[in-house]
Amino acid sequence: MNIRSEYLNGLMERVIQRNPAEPEFHQAVGEVLSSLVPVVEARPEYITEGVMDCLVEPERIIKFRVPWEDEKGQIHVNRGFRVQFNSAIGPYKGGLRFHPSVYEGIIKFLGFEQIFKNSLTGLPIGGGKGGSDFDPKGRTDLEVMRFCQSFMTELFKYIGPDTDVPAGDIGVGSREIGYLFGQYKRLRNEFTGVLTGKGLSYGGSLARTEATGYGLCYFADCMLRDAGRGFEGARVVISGSGNVAIYACEKAAQFGAKVVAMSDSGGYLYDGDGIDLALVKQLKEVQRRRISDYVESRPRAEYHAGCRDIWSIPCDIALPCATQNELDGNAARALIAGGCFAVAEGANMPCTPEAVEALQAAGVLFAPAKAANAGGVATSALEMSQNSMRFYWSFEEVDEHLKRIMTDLYRNASRAAEQYGMAGNLAAGANIAGFLKVADSMLAYGVV
Ligand code: NDP
Repeated sequence: MNIRSEYLNGLMERVIQRNPAEPEFHQAVGEVLSSLVPVVEARPEYITEGVMDCLVEPERIIKFRVPWEDEKGQIHVNRGFRVQFNSAIGPYKGGLRFHPSVYEGIIKFLGFEQIFKNSLTGLPIGGGKGGSDFDPKGRTDLEVMRFCQSFMTELFKYIGPDTDVPAGDIGVGSREIGYLFGQYKRLRNEFTGVLTGKGLSYGGSLARTEATGYGLCYFADCMLRDAGRGFEGARVVISGSGNVAIYACEKAAQFGAKVVAMSDSGGYLYDGDGIDLALVKQLKEVQRRRISDYVESRPRAEYHAGCRDIWSIPCDIALPCATQNELDGNAARALIAGGCFAVAEGANMPCTPEAVEALQAAGVLFAPAKAANAGGVATSALEMSQNSMRFYWSFEEVDEHLKRIMTDLYRNASRAAEQYGMAGNLAAGANIAGFLKVADSMLAYGVV
């Protein structure tokens, strides 16, 4: 990677040296540092006062053993992580991911991204992330409960409603949050908003489940309108069929689009008549089955094993909502060839740097994850507010807040890009706008 600033280039080299074999973390840091070149040129104190060096080093990394017993009496030992990356503007906030691919580098990349995303929401929340290499897939409820209880038995020492407030991510939905919250409450003997994404009966917020997917479409809608386009009548391809993908599909359809494809880690589905979302919800949210089972009820739909080719389906708008680096240079070129005019990232870092470059060079509108998927964490912060007030807002009130936050976020990213000579580059604008608030707070604290 060649960053057009001698200092930032050197810093990037040090990050690679000090964090070996963590390519996702290097990728995330490189992407942010590249867009901060004009900022540090205008404000060299960010370098001389040590802000840049501190920014790339987590405040704290917690790594622990998670032993648990399965239903057959066999003992398993997983690894748990919590990276408390930056608390300059508020308590650490960010989800927990349970997936076999989780290791320290993945959690660091996600925690780093979270700093800027949380800052962009305009709410007082710092950046953190956590998780485990535990795979909940195929495990019984009892096994998932035992794992979650063991995980929280260690994690509870380091979190709290004013310190660090985790939430869900891949593999951590309402079931897991329930088990984690129950164990925290038992260990601490207190009922506080220490986790978000909670069930409605014990402190959750209405619209939190929908927030990331809906927020993604609110953000994309602002971007499309500014370019004289819209969701109405558009053909949309969405990867994934988890929390983000399902509610992105719901909102895109409400905006008048036709979603023709979705996927899971096994393969993708094409339904030219438009995806039957009620059926997807039933399969994925209720029955925890595979997306391939969709064709049993909708024989005219097609299922293809493997995920990569989903991007060769001709579409107007693509919403990658599954996982990191799922859309590479070839996929971007296939999208461009298929007439795609907008890509909005629902997952974290789903597009490789090569893909982003190809899309931007071809004039495809591009909404970066840090900004476009910030609706989830923003609504988590609204859940924290409601918990502190011991009060609940209606679905409509939360949704209104979410819409306003996503609109402001779009304007801020757009304005920052323009101010620093990169008009229309929302990826750079989001990095800059997110960075400035955090960096100025770090400057104010001195060397800490
Ligand atoms: P879920 O676990 O609910 O869903 C993940 C989806 O992606 C599933 O359909 C899963 O398929 C698929 N998937 C996972 N890994 C892969 C892979 N390696 N290749 C292809 N498909 C894969 O997670 P979420 O919807 O919550 O999260 C999706 C993305 O959005 C993640 O990047 C997450 O960090 C990001 N995000 C989530 C937020 C939230 O509020 N939930 C907030 C902001 C960002 P399968 O069922 O087969 O595993």
